[in-house]
Amino acid sequence: MRVAFLGLGAIGAPMAAHLAGRYDLVVWNRTAERARAFAGRHGARQAATPREAAEGAAVVLTCLPTSREVEALLDGPDGLEAGLAPGTLFLDCTSGDPATSRRLAERLAGRGVAFADTPVSGGTNGAEAGTLTVMVGSDAATFERARPVLEAFGRRVQHMGPVGAGDAMKAVNNALLAVNIRAVGEGLAALVKAGVPARTAVEVLNASSGRSFVSEALVPERVLTGTWPQTFRLALLDKDVGIALGLLEQTGVEGPLLARTGELCAEARRALGEEADYLEMIRVVERQAGVEVRG
Ligand code: NDP
Repeated sequence: MRVAFLGLGAIGAPMAAHLAGRYDLVVWNRTAERARAFAGRHGARQAATPREAAEGAAVVLTCLPTSREVEALLDGPDGLEAGLAPGTLFLDCTSGDPATSRRLAERLAGRGVAFADTPVSGGTNGAEAGTLTVMVGSDAATFERARPVLEAFGRRVQHMGPVGAGDAMKAVNNALLAVNIRAVGEGLAALVKAGVPARTAVEVLNASSGRSFVSEALVPERVLTGTWPQTFRLALLDKDVGIALGLLEQTGVEGPLLARTGELCAEARRALGEEADYLEMIRVVERQAGVEVRG
């Protein structure tokens, strides 16, 4: 079966690598050199245009920064839509926004193409290991068609509800991640300034009730060591918090905590730039506090 994957970024490339062994894989990336290198490494075929990638593919997957870029990729004579045949399955792994996903689903349904929003969680490590959580928004029949393909890189592939429900789930997850990063940064900066060694503070936190994925995995590996690897752009986390805030607004839920977190993410993004890693939000706290959380 031919599968096309478009968007070989930080997470898209390791996801697509799992498809290479199982399917006849065609890849496309805006920066063609990345697709060329990927195709050479994994025995995939490189398409010259999104249209060419879609032609003859039974399943098309996209993984771009936002839903906006996915929608734009469909347009034009060389666009993705021009290559899609009726019966194709379109899986968007972008952490997208529910309204755009619903619009895309409607547009593609007009061509007989089934759509699911299929954002993922688990980071680049999870993508490499093939252990991602995949949150699927689609009708039940589309989910059953999508499941075996998504299981190539997903350990938990979960149907969340209709189109848009995967995006909504992913946005809330990442909003909670952002709250946690900022809160752990603030708490640890204060403890270090109060004279508690950073590593001891983190160890005790992780043996106590305030622990979290951020304190257990991210801070020991990346902050205490001062390595700050670039795996997920802060700009993308900021986008996710914005999507979550839109969901709260639409559902009539007051969200002062998430709203403030959104402001802090946006501030950090402005200060650190578009390429900064998401965990560098803690750097902003460190700078303000005049302390480093290392040890
Ligand atoms: P990157 O910024 O690393 O990669 C983005 C990809 O999109 C690249 O292939 C880039 O191409 C392509 N792209 C950007 N703009 C356009 C455009 N206008 N037209 C066509 N292609 C474009 O992002 P990630 O891989 O990290 O993230 C992709 C999605 O996955 C995002 O929605 C993100 O929120 C989500 N995600 C990321 C995780 C992570 O750990 N990194 C974890 C979970 C979800 P080019 O090579 O030319 O720049």
